[in-house]
Amino acid sequence: MTTIRSVNPATGEELARFDEDDADVVEARIAAAARAFPVLAGTPIVRRGEWMRAAAGLLEDEADELAALITAEMGKPIAQSRAEVLKSAHTMRYYADNAAAFLDGRVLDDPSAVGASTARTRFEPLGVVLAVMPWNYPIWQVVRFAAPALMAGNVGLLKHASNVPQSARYLGELFVRAGFPEGSFATLLIGSARVERVIRDPRVVAVTLTGSEGAGRSIAATAGDVLKKVVLELGGSDPFIVMPSADLDAAVETAVRARTTNNGQACINAKRFIVHDDVYDAFAERFTRRMSALRVGDPSDPAVEIGPLATEQGRRDIAELVEDARAAGAEVLAGDIPADAPGWFYPPTVVAGLSPRMRLWSEEAFGPVASLYRAASLDDAIAIANDSDFGLGSAFWSTDPEEIARAERELEAGAVFVNGMTISYAELPFGGVKRSGFGRELSQEGLREFCNLKTVWVA
Ligand code: NAP
Repeated sequence: MTTIRSVNPATGEELARFDEDDADVVEARIAAAARAFPVLAGTPIVRRGEWMRAAAGLLEDEADELAALITAEMGKPIAQSRAEVLKSAHTMRYYADNAAAFLDGRVLDDPSAVGASTARTRFEPLGVVLAVMPWNYPIWQVVRFAAPALMAGNVGLLKHASNVPQSARYLGELFVRAGFPEGSFATLLIGSARVERVIRDPRVVAVTLTGSEGAGRSIAATAGDVLKKVVLELGGSDPFIVMPSADLDAAVETAVRARTTNNGQACINAKRFIVHDDVYDAFAERFTRRMSALRVGDPSDPAVEIGPLATEQGRRDIAELVEDARAAGAEVLAGDIPADAPGWFYPPTVVAGLSPRMRLWSEEAFGPVASLYRAASLDDAIAIANDSDFGLGSAFWSTDPEEIARAERELEAGAVFVNGMTISYAELPFGGVKRSGFGRELSQEGLREFCNLKTVWVA
């Protein structure tokens, strides 16, 4: 039986180890989920809302311990870990309050047009949904799936990332502790090689993944083979465009946060900073200065702004991307080779002078590495931004209404944030285009992803 380890990335110390769930345990959890589905789907939504609010209350009551666990297990600065827990609780309450309205169907104004006395739609839950989740927001990523799914009457099985087993176990118990029927939400402590079998299980009706392109390809292929619904939230290499009319001080401050939140390991971190020629030098100088001044260190220290990368492999990957660019002639404006110290730290880094033959041009940098691009015009900036296989978020800085209108229309992304940075909110749909995936999470759209939109026609 393979062991799943929880390791503190700031020190390399092992925090806990667990045996993977064996085939009998996985079978029992799937069977319990299948039994729970009709029970949960048949429970009035008001009751589901009470349980969801109770789950939010548990998160709030346990916020300090849970934040410490997140930080210990994946290295996020402690204040951000706490914010993640509270945002998750807010999202649970949001769905507890709004799910009933989101599930309202539509009534056709003129049913005679379809030869009926009444024609309408209704949303019904699908059944057991498997969620394959990443480590970078170990509580939030799961809650943003689980809260709408359970409120709609679905039940959930969680296969979490292998480096956050303690978060996975916490989540596996949370909803039943809050009052949901046994089997409504459970964790499968299994490695990725065993995901395919779960997707193929006839009792599992759909799958959602937040993760890398490779995982997306593999999960979508299996789901396609057995014709099951799949939602994919994959990587991003979000552009952050700065035009001459922008408030440069605010743009620089926001750019630093947009690149380095979560130690630079968020799908919606801004990764490519595309700056108009007129303000490029001023932006590059100030941005590089601010990036270099960030405090890197022990993420449990509230004064620290950047902790370690979550995994040793993650640090190797990002170091290789920067070295590849440097070897091909890029200029590294900030960032030193990481010291040979315990923990998987990587310094905030700024790279300029990129060209398409460098991997950093086209690949996602999952760590605190910013790429700078000089744009000759708005056309040029939008062209550079769209010259990417990804299309998740984007940010556009300008005070010119015509430029803003063009950015809104022309940026190939699931979101455009004007004079701000891309953030996920319970209240707004979230997802990507191109190789960033398909389907939406959050808001009304996220709740409806795992519903059967049923048409009802009455003679
Ligand atoms: P990852 O390697 O794809 O892991 C994500 C999850 O998928 C883990 O539970 C992992 O399990 C599982 N997995 C990996 N390969 C699989 C396969 N072939 N079949 C089935 N399951 C598989 O991703 P990561 O490197 O941990 O996370 C970073 C990536 O996620 C980045 O690309 C980031 O942009 C993306 N992300 C996207 C969003 C979004 O909303 N769009 C949000 C956050 C992160 P194991 O841990 O056991 O391998």
